[in-house]
Amino acid sequence: MHPTRTTWLCGCIVALAALHAAGAELAEHRGIWLHPDQFKTPEAAEMWIERIAAARLNAIYPLVWHRGGTAWFRSELSPLAGDVADGFDPLGHLIKLAHARGIAVHAWFVNGSYGQTRTDRGVFAQHPEWQLQGGGDPWYDLGRPAVRDFQRDVMIECLRNYELDGLHFDYIRYSGIQICYCDHCQQEFAAKYGFRPLRGEEDRFPILVETGGNPLDKPTTAQVLATFDDGKPAITVNRLGSGEAVLLNWGAARSGSPAVDKFVRQTLTRFGATAKNTLQLDTTQTRAKYRPETQTQTAQWLRTLGFPTRLIDETELAKTPDRGTLILRGQYYIAEDTAQQLEDFVRAGGHCLFIDGPVFAIKQPPLQRVIGLKSTAAFFSGGKVVSPAPGQDVLEAGPPLDVNEARQRMAKWVEYRTWTVSELVRSVSRDAKALKPDAWISAAVFYVKDSADRVCQDWYGWLREGSIDYVLPMAYTEDNGVLAKAFAEWKDADPGGERIIPGLSIYSRQDGRAVPRDLALVRSQLDLCRAHATHGVQFFSLAFLNEALIEALAQGPFATPARTWYPAKRAVPNDAP
Ligand SMILES: [Zn+2]
Repeated sequence: MHPTRTTWLCGCIVALAALHAAGAELAEHRGIWLHPDQFKTPEAAEMWIERIAAARLNAIYPLVWHRGGTAWFRSELSPLAGDVADGFDPLGHLIKLAHARGIAVHAWFVNGSYGQTRTDRGVFAQHPEWQLQGGGDPWYDLGRPAVRDFQRDVMIECLRNYELDGLHFDYIRYSGIQICYCDHCQQEFAAKYGFRPLRGEEDRFPILVETGGNPLDKPTTAQVLATFDDGKPAITVNRLGSGEAVLLNWGAARSGSPAVDKFVRQTLTRFGATAKNTLQLDTTQTRAKYRPETQTQTAQWLRTLGFPTRLIDETELAKTPDRGTLILRGQYYIAEDTAQQLEDFVRAGGHCLFIDGPVFAIKQPPLQRVIGLKSTAAFFSGGKVVSPAPGQDVLEAGPPLDVNEARQRMAKWVEYRTWTVSELVRSVSRDAKALKPDAWISAAVFYVKDSADRVCQDWYGWLREGSIDYVLPMAYTEDNGVLAKAFAEWKDADPGGERIIPGLSIYSRQDGRAVPRDLALVRSQLDLCRAHATHGVQFFSLAFLNEALIEALAQGPFATPARTWYPAKRAVPNDAP
């Protein structure tokens, strides 16, 4: 049930009266993330600060460092972003405006992800070896001390030169647990854990894949090239008419596996895939439900393999060149007429590469004929071995895999990788507190522990050891049941609710576009936070703070002005575990 506007106002008046009666001065964290577009000119900053103040928010987290290591502040270590006018200091101006209104400023840094920037520009142009190996989208190799030192120095420089209230980490993680084959990581990992260093030569099956998914099952005409350890198909090929469809039956994109990369390269080469005839289909139905990043990351990965693609939806499908190639990654929903078009395309000599198959759409006969499988197997998660199937001669078989050794190595690799991220957090925290003991250190984190663990983001550990003051878990769900579950899980990390400020979204995804979130939903999530006695909230993001929301907040839950709430100070640990 959504409360009506009248009931919000009534509830708020009662709350306000109670506060006045108690004579309390309210401390509550009312934060919001903002992007450079909202403060890169004096006019933009002034307009947005007005709105932030009107909504009675009291803490802002401006993005000041991203996109290949460019800064929206004056730095001797990083160039000023290209979209800032000469002589203007975006962060300096923003701090002046914000502090004049009693609004705290926490500088937001994107640590792991390089940003949608060509890697022949920015930091990686000077230090190509700083780019993480394995996976698709450009990422910093946080395993390298030089990378961690550089990021620490940039963050500390910003803290030193500006009247900041705090430093804020984001993407303080990896994109997964892919192996980095660089000399540094392999040597350090080998020295710490006693495993033989890997050289990226593991380009044959069997392999261990750390994954989860909902594979397709029941081959009809498809030939099984590889199986999972439970015998279900892992890689299949199906010929139909003069065309062909290959299926990688799990989330294989960006896995960082040399064997997978080699197989995809060989397959696309065999298909005759070129920049001109290769398209990547993202159907409207799938895009409405899933994040577009999955597609852009897949495109990035394919580009690194030497196969640039162009992203299309089904309206452009008819333009696919004859005998061309279509990539379909995670296309769980495909409309009936699109399925029929795919069948016609393949029969006429077209090629399809399915990665993580169409689990919901596979009930359609045309898709069953294209892929040569007709249903789904049970969902699975965790490590699986992918082995060449007997009798096939497409996949080159490598030496047998010592599965126990591979599993132990992977577990230790994740531990090592997690340690490298935590080392960056600790070093920034130590230096920041030494420089300005009053500065707050916070991080935006995955809100479900299991998801955080899978990207090596041990924020539970950071809170426990005190290397971070508080976290802002990005709980952008629209489902309040899911949000309630998150509160239950957070109790383990922060029993007193002192150090977790929920990050809520104020946008929703509709037909693949981000639109302002329904006010009643925003309000119900704020109510949920208050019901769980959180010390505030954090919104993502400022672009969606429209007039209606400003009014709803200022006249509703934020009617009483509040100063920013922070947890109790603690000593930063000196010794890394
Ligand atoms: Zn490395």
